[in-house]
This record gives sequence, structure tokens and C-alpha cells, in this order.
Amino acid sequence: MRAAIFHGPGDLRIEDIEPEEPGLGEIVVRVEVAVTCGTDLKSYRRGHHKLFPNLPARFGHEFAGIVDRVGEGVTAFTPGMRVVAANTAPCGHCWACTLGRLALCENLEFLNGAFAEEVRIPAAIVARNTYELSGTTSFESVAPLEPLATVVHGMDKSDIALGDVVAVNGAGPIGQMFMRLARLRGAHVIAVDQAPDRLAAALRMGANEVIDISAYATTEERAASVRAITPGGRGVDVAIEAVGLPAVWEQTVQCLRPGGTAILFGGPPQGATFSVNANDMHYFEYTLKGIFHHEPIYVQRALRLIDSGALDGRDLITETRGIDRLVESLEDMAAGRGAKYAIDPRA
Ligand SMILES: [Zn+2]
Ligand SMILES: [Zn+2]
Repeated sequence: MRAAIFHGPGDLRIEDIEPEEPGLGEIVVRVEVAVTCGTDLKSYRRGHHKLFPNLPARFGHEFAGIVDRVGEGVTAFTPGMRVVAANTAPCGHCWACTLGRLALCENLEFLNGAFAEEVRIPAAIVARNTYELSGTTSFESVAPLEPLATVVHGMDKSDIALGDVVAVNGAGPIGQMFMRLARLRGAHVIAVDQAPDRLAAALRMGANEVIDISAYATTEERAASVRAITPGGRGVDVAIEAVGLPAVWEQTVQCLRPGGTAILFGGPPQGATFSVNANDMHYFEYTLKGIFHHEPIYVQRALRLIDSGALDGRDLITETRGIDRLVESLEDMAAGRGAKYAIDPRA
């Protein structure tokens, strides 16, 4: 079968490999559609110490498909079921899991290999983070379940309330999902980006207002342009960072009103640092929250949002392409052409 194999930064190949058989507690899923994500792009360009400790490795983690073969001991799934799986499952017994901080689980086992005709799902994910699709939910609409689950996680920690003014810095797929969900919570949403097509997408996803920050040179000017359109010019109640650059983390904090909350969501490069005015942090009582990954409860809520039609993964997908165009699609994303590509492993 054809599968994407990651050999190292900048070296991703489509190869013919032997199909895998499911081990104890595992299932093998025929991939109907897999989608690219920002993490794929990051990993492709600079590697990823958590996701790819050993190379070469299978690649891709957002997908939906049909159960083809089940391993010994699997009772919840049978061949022919339409399923979606998260890319990890918490172990349930480490110190972090015991504290209820499941995203920080020390033993997260990552699923890789969605860009292929088949993917083998590890036993822990089969047991705790794989779901049968309801009759009406399409593969394409549910394939981006994992990023939506991380956004649901960020929303949960944001405490966005009815009538809040919320700035979303970054209008890529993650930012767009935050905008849709913040609107569902009754917030007034300001989308902040510098790419016209992303700002147009932001309006389609529910942003009330957009700010094109390309007109402003510095982080301070960009944040000031956001505060300028908030009540009393004080700043936003909640600011979200959905880019993963330290300068945008700083811009996000600088958008806040006194007492506001920043959700620092985008993953910056290893070793990156950012600055906060300590005087403001003290006198303005900011709350800064880092958000990483998801938990099964957020995956389940994300699935309900998709099943109910509140959010549809297809709204995020630029185009469907064959697997031979996977690298081209990542390069397009890197160049700012398109946000998320659906990959058909058999085309
Ligand atoms: Zn992803
Ligand atoms: Zn754990």
C-alpha cells in the first residue's frame, strides 16, 4: 500500500510498504480521507521531538475511515464501522493523569501514519479515544477532529462569557475554529491577521470584525489597533493566540483589557521566549494560560459539535488532492497558499 514516510526535515516520501496487521487491542482502518495540519508542516520543516523520536516514520494524524481488521481482544469495533480516532490517548495512571491534567500525560502515545491507504491504531487509542461516526457525519467533516478538540480545550480554559469581546490573533484553521466557537458562546469576535484570504475566511466563520495588521509595523501598534475598537479603548476581555510566534504571543497579551485573559495556543519553536511588561502584569492582573493538546472529553465534545452541525471540517479544507501531492500541499501551506488540504490516499 502507499504511505507517506518521513525521513527527516524536508524529506517526506510516498512509498510502497507492506500492510500492517493489528496487534492485541489494535485496529487497522482503511483511510477514506486524511487532512494536513500545521503540526504536519512544522514537523516536515524542522522535525518534532515528541512526534518523531525515531526515523524513518509514518506521517499524518488527522483522518477518518472504515475499520478493516481488528486485533485480538477488540470488542467495541468491527470491520465496516465508520470511525474517527484522536492522535493520542492519556495513560490514566501517571502523576499528570492522576491530577486530572490529561493533556500533560507523561505516556502519551502518538498515532502517526494517516497519510496512507491504511493506518494502525494503537491499543490505548482504540480503548479510550476512537469513536464510531453517526450515520450522517461525513468523513471530510470529521477528519479535522483533533485540532477542533484542542480548540475546545482552549475554549474551556478561556471562560469566554456572553457579550465578551474576543480577539483571535491568527485566522488560519485554528483561529477560524476559535472564532466559530467564540461566536457560539455569544462573544463579539475580532479577527486579526495580515492575509486577505484568511481575513475573508474569518468573516465566513463568524468573525464580527477583522483587522488587517499588515498596515502596522510593530507589535505595539498592532495591539493598539485592536484595543482601539474595544469598549472604552480598554482592550479585549479574552485574547487568543493562534499562530505560534513569540511576537504574536506578545501582541496577544497587549490586546487585553485590565483583568483580561490570554489563551496562548500556537506552539512556538523550541527555545523561543516572549516578554510581558511586568508592571502591566501586576497592575492589570492579567491571566495568561498556555494550552497544549486535548483530552478525551474535549475530543468527545468536538465530535458532538460536528455531529450537530455547529462546525463542519469541510469549511476548513482548501482542496482535496491525491497522496502524490502531499509534499506539494505542505509547501503550499508554507507559502501561505491554502490552509488545510484533504488527502485522498487512493487518488
Ligand atoms: Zn493536527
Ligand atoms: Zn498519564
